[in-house]
Amino acid sequence: MRKTLILKVDCENPDGEKIDLAAEAIRRGGLVAFPTETVYGLGADALNPKAVREIYAVKMRPPDNPIIVHIAVKDDVYRLAESVPRYAERLMDLFWPGPLTLVLKASGIVPKVTTGGLDTVAIRMPKHKVALALIKASETPIAAPSANLAGRPSPTVAEHVIQDLYGRIDVIIDAGPTSIGVESTVLDLTSDPPQILRPGGATYEDLRKALGKVDIHPSALAKSELPIERARSPGMKHKHYAPKAEMILVEGDFSLIVGKIMELAEHYAKAGRKVGVLATDESAPNYKVGVIKSLGNRRDLSLAAKNLFKTLREFDEEGVDLIIAEGLPQEGLGLAIMNRLRRAAGYNIITLG
Ligand code: AMP
Ligand code: MG
Repeated sequence: MRKTLILKVDCENPDGEKIDLAAEAIRRGGLVAFPTETVYGLGADALNPKAVREIYAVKMRPPDNPIIVHIAVKDDVYRLAESVPRYAERLMDLFWPGPLTLVLKASGIVPKVTTGGLDTVAIRMPKHKVALALIKASETPIAAPSANLAGRPSPTVAEHVIQDLYGRIDVIIDAGPTSIGVESTVLDLTSDPPQILRPGGATYEDLRKALGKVDIHPSALAKSELPIERARSPGMKHKHYAPKAEMILVEGDFSLIVGKIMELAEHYAKAGRKVGVLATDESAPNYKVGVIKSLGNRRDLSLAAKNLFKTLREFDEEGVDLIIAEGLPQEGLGLAIMNRLRRAAGYNIITLG
């Protein structure tokens, strides 16, 4: 077991000495979990292949699932990418710092282990004072996937990182809950038109406004497992976001969803299952059976995104063995939420209406 140092810092005004301690660990080739505005990341020096290999080992992450490189100054894009199309600069101006990851042709300085063997690199600048301070103090770009064990729901508070990785990494920086709660949008700029490989914090609608035309990779919208060409969207083929409990997602017409979930909850509870219902404020009073948890008001998708992973982990903590989840509208952040719910359910989906 490794000694894990937990550093509590203020999210708006992080203590420079603590950031320096964490940055030293990064420079030495160590692993540091840190908050971003999306989820907590597990960081290592992106240019140190040995350090990045440790990320895969500790997370038990499949070796072909590449890692996003986090930067604090735009100039670093020109070192990490071989070429930067003009519209990439426009996107950086509009969306950075923020939850948009750009996939570009990688330069020679990016180790193959960071890109999962691909010739592209995924880069983003997080909108979080602690993350930016850590990257600057480390004086190197930081490769960071979500700071959870592979396959588990992503961490949105430091406690989740402690659950999954305590004793396996060097430092955990705790700056409270993350503000967005789902990961960044991954946008591939090596295809024309640009293509969303993973929906996330930057919405399709906003990207379309900025670019005119944007595609969405079919796997990002899929309701069942698709055969994925490895070269394009490697992360999409792996198990992801899953609670320990089995999960059924009921999506479609809201007026039909509630009745169906009431029926399923009763059926499975009678069969002896410990049922959990992932509900919303509007529907929660209807459910009488099982552990009921609400993601918030159906119209407030940013609150639902913020609550999503935390709530999935809470069901596990309460020993629920079957989660029945309500689908949400697929607009705005709802696209990312539905992508995570479908995958968390292992595509165990009932569509109504
Ligand atoms: P994570 O940070 O664990 O949430 O996962 C990072 C996501 O970014 C995964 O879905 C990866 O497949 C994706 N990604 C990272 N680098 C690349 C790349 N070079 N090309 C395509 N997707 C990438
Ligand atoms: Mg992840």
